[in-house]
Amino acid sequence: MITGKNLIGYKLSGEGLDTFKSYNPHLEKENPTVFFDASLSEIEEAVLLASKAFQQYQFFTAEQKLKFFQALENEMLEAKKSILTCYQLESGLPLSRSESEFSRTIAQIQQYSKLFDSNQLILPSIDTAIYDTHQPKSDIRKIKVGLGPVVVFGASNFPLAYSTLGGDTVAALAAGCSVIVKSHPMHAGTGELVGNAIIKALKYAEMPEGVFSNLNGFSNNVGACLVNHPMIKAVAFTGSIKGGRALFDLAARRKEPIPVFAEMGSLNPVVIDNLSLLKNMNKWTDDLADSVTNDAGQFCTKPGLIFIKSGQNVDEFVQMLISKVKEKGFKMMVHPRLKGNFENQLDDLSKILNIERHKLHSSSVVMPIAINISGSLFLTHRIFQEEVFGPFCFVIICKDDAELIQCIESLDGQLTASIFVEDEFQNESIVKQWISIFYNKSGRINFNNVPTGVRVCGSMHHGGPYPASSDSRFGAVGVDSIERFLRPLCFQNFPDALLPDLLKDKNPLNVLRRVNGELSFAEIIR
Ligand code: NAP
Repeated sequence: MITGKNLIGYKLSGEGLDTFKSYNPHLEKENPTVFFDASLSEIEEAVLLASKAFQQYQFFTAEQKLKFFQALENEMLEAKKSILTCYQLESGLPLSRSESEFSRTIAQIQQYSKLFDSNQLILPSIDTAIYDTHQPKSDIRKIKVGLGPVVVFGASNFPLAYSTLGGDTVAALAAGCSVIVKSHPMHAGTGELVGNAIIKALKYAEMPEGVFSNLNGFSNNVGACLVNHPMIKAVAFTGSIKGGRALFDLAARRKEPIPVFAEMGSLNPVVIDNLSLLKNMNKWTDDLADSVTNDAGQFCTKPGLIFIKSGQNVDEFVQMLISKVKEKGFKMMVHPRLKGNFENQLDDLSKILNIERHKLHSSSVVMPIAINISGSLFLTHRIFQEEVFGPFCFVIICKDDAELIQCIESLDGQLTASIFVEDEFQNESIVKQWISIFYNKSGRINFNNVPTGVRVCGSMHHGGPYPASSDSRFGAVGVDSIERFLRPLCFQNFPDALLPDLLKDKNPLNVLRRVNGELSFAEIIR
């Protein structure tokens, strides 16, 4: 049952005076549960608990954390039916999407379980002492440890995989951090159900109270108070550039600034080689129209800008793509605020462009649109470089190679960039030039592949130069994302008995370590 209350450690609490409801986009009305914004005293209580819990949890062994993570998986599977039902009621996203997002959420947990099982979450480093009478050198050993209590903000378009128990939360928990989730108000019920599963797993694995709390907040105030709290040591955010930047600035103004790992919006440029159109026109327009409109285009990896140089078959390609996008028909946005933003952005664009609009009497539904513009117009107005979150893209027709290069050179940082080129033209120098520009502008370059559909695996990178991410060195997908919540800690000249097990001479946990520059499982003889 969903109570609408905050999960503060192992306690349910609904003291706050401000309340809100989530929204059913299908029925176009609010869901019945009343949710309570966390009050200042509830925020304080959750942070104190998180800080206390961290002092113990950070020292738990991989074996103890494995028990917790396996329990997380089991509890999620146990609650799957109710979670998915609520997910659909709060987002309007179809069953198939809820199933695939659920599987991805479980896969993220399993990846860390695997690393706990083999005890290979971090690579300890040891440089043994040098007993040289002239230049003696101390014994130095290094591991990485959790940063402390972390606040996680989820995005509305991923109620599971980027939310309560999404990639950020599991990475922070795996790093040994305690986590407070500022639940997204538009799927607060799903958040509470997932939160319950986390609490059950914590209790089963005998973890200290406060390793996890879930706070509701319709106003930005709850999130802002959490980010400002001196006991919070890092923030993970998935959402808009505006939201991410606001939290980043807030954290930077603190007496003790803390890192904000914000994964934000992206335009995901695509460059189409016009010489390759003859053989690929149908497939590429199909793939791109699907990618632009799938789940109402509510993906940070949706291709928003498609560049092509004018030439033979280009007009046909552009018209085919525009028609295929339109033919997808009405699409439902996950909540009315996103639908409102979408319409407002089209209103702004209508001041410059002639856009055929379908004004609908609905709080949830929008009509997919692709619009073609010239390269020179693109270069004139900065508005074309603002993400339109929803089933929308621009097709930019450039007059020559130089204009196309100028357009992609003008872009800010991106999560992805894609290039579509037929085999026989792959070695053209212009293709290499596009790739070299995207080297410095994106976190992932796709070849003849659309950018949507992020595979969760070790080699994936989901992040990119600002504003795609606030810190381009890190990403939000795959086990490498744990690095965001770790910091190095070095032990100099320590007696063996006082070292953490990962660094002890005998290597009691049998982990791979870097010893004097070589990877090794061997014990160290002093
Ligand atoms: P959003 O409006 O930025 O909201 C995300 C979260 O941040 C919410 O919990 C929101 O709380 C909070 N928030 C926003 N501004 C805040 C502020 N000034 N102070 C405190 N808290 C604040 O984003 P969304 O509508 O959920 O998601 C759509 C956006 O996310 C798109 O731009 C999309 O590209 C991006 N996205 C990025 C990724 C990625 O991995 N890079 C993945 C998915 C989505 P409130 O709801 O209470 O305002």
